[in-house]
Amino acid sequence: MIAGAGPAGLMLGLLLARAGVDVVVAEKHADFLRDFRGDTIHPSTLEVMHELGLIDEFLRLPHTRAPKLSAEMGGKTITIADFSRLPVRNRFIAFMPQWDFLSFLAAKAQTYPNFRLIMQAKVADVLEEQGVIRGLSLETPKGKLTIHSTLVVGADGRNSVVREKAGLEVESFGIPSEVVWMKLSKQPGDPNEVMGHAGPRQGFVLIDRGDYWQCGYVIRRTAFAEIREKGIEAFRRMVADVSPLPAARMQEIRSFEDTSLLTVRIDRLKQWWRSGLICIGDAAHAMSPIGGVGVNLAIQDAVAAANILIAPLREKRLTDGDLAAVEKRRGFPTRATQKLQLMMRSSRRTDQADDRKSKGPPGFIRGIARFPLLAHLAGRLIGLGFRMEHVRAGQGNL
Ligand SMILES: Cc1cc2nc3c(=O)[nH]c(=O)nc-3n(C[C@H](O)[C@H](O)[C@H](O)COP(=O)(O)OP(=O)(O)OC[C@H]3O[C@@H](n4cnc5c(N)ncnc54)[C@H](O)[C@@H]3O)c2cc1C
Repeated sequence: MIAGAGPAGLMLGLLLARAGVDVVVAEKHADFLRDFRGDTIHPSTLEVMHELGLIDEFLRLPHTRAPKLSAEMGGKTITIADFSRLPVRNRFIAFMPQWDFLSFLAAKAQTYPNFRLIMQAKVADVLEEQGVIRGLSLETPKGKLTIHSTLVVGADGRNSVVREKAGLEVESFGIPSEVVWMKLSKQPGDPNEVMGHAGPRQGFVLIDRGDYWQCGYVIRRTAFAEIREKGIEAFRRMVADVSPLPAARMQEIRSFEDTSLLTVRIDRLKQWWRSGLICIGDAAHAMSPIGGVGVNLAIQDAVAAANILIAPLREKRLTDGDLAAVEKRRGFPTRATQKLQLMMRSSRRTDQADDRKSKGPPGFIRGIARFPLLAHLAGRLIGLGFRMEHVRAGQGNL
């Protein structure tokens, strides 16, 4: 039984169903339509889609491709991550709305009779018997539903109800910040770069979404209340000051209703599992948006969990040791990625001290500008992560 039909829950559901394990996925929303979510499909995830035999069909869905990520420094565009030398078949990030990705995974999983997706089913509690988690209690439009299960997987995201109800302890790191997301139209003459327009004025992210720009404006935690107080015109000026787009374009932000606020935090569970339950993806570790790695780590968790758990689930011999093995496998890449994100944030914070009066780019961007080969290393860490996971052969067919 899997809580949450996000990237982690649906990929795990697909892999388990494909291997003949009965799966139920419960999702609280009625559909996959969410704006301003993780929309970056990295080379590691594209490789998983290839290993599943789905890549050609998947890449026929509308998307834009970024073979490298750029930033502006001192008026010059520099490559901060280059994917061209990665040892995989698709050496680019595919930007694709998350709802298309999720709908694709759900449709593939639903071709298996042993896969069931229940939409509008909100996890309310875990069922516990003698210290072991035995299932979930769900709220649906038709009333309460209780589902018993050999294993519960918490894939219900950064505000996981499963982890809270199961009493799993969370550790938080760094100072939370916030990102104000908004859309601006794309017009002829706009910059070509995707992601990380980082200097000379920092804290502004520009993601090419085909016919529009998804823009992220990084602010101090709780600063949004002050910004709102100053009014929309003042906000437009602040964005115009850091954006490479013409100031007139800011009129497209009609009111604060056109923005969406994301609290950026980095946390992880002290232990990802207890008897009968394991958490993966954001439910086990919320990442900072730096590098856009959240979706891809969630997918890698799902692949690793499937590789380790399929045999014990099929043979009805699941033990705590199997759950601990999943955490052991994914713990290192999670810790390493979070450590790197914290280091990059602190170099950015130092530069952004004094309320953005310091116009220098963050330290890691200055480093890459001096040693361009580092862009390949950054490409590897962003594109593949610290530990890539592969779909194990012989565990089902599509
Ligand atoms: C604004 C924003 C921008 C981001 N940008 C990027 C990016 O560019 N690249 C990137 O890789 N990552 C990005 N991320 C992070 C990325 O979206 C997450 O890391 C990724 O989606 C995690 O996948 P997941 O499956 O673990 O959790 P989620 O995607 O959060 O999925 C959890 C699912 O569980 C469901 N759920 C929650 N509670 C319950 C419940 N009680 N009962 C039933 N279902 C429930 C949710 O509705 C959701 O469908 C961004 C996140 C945000 C919020």
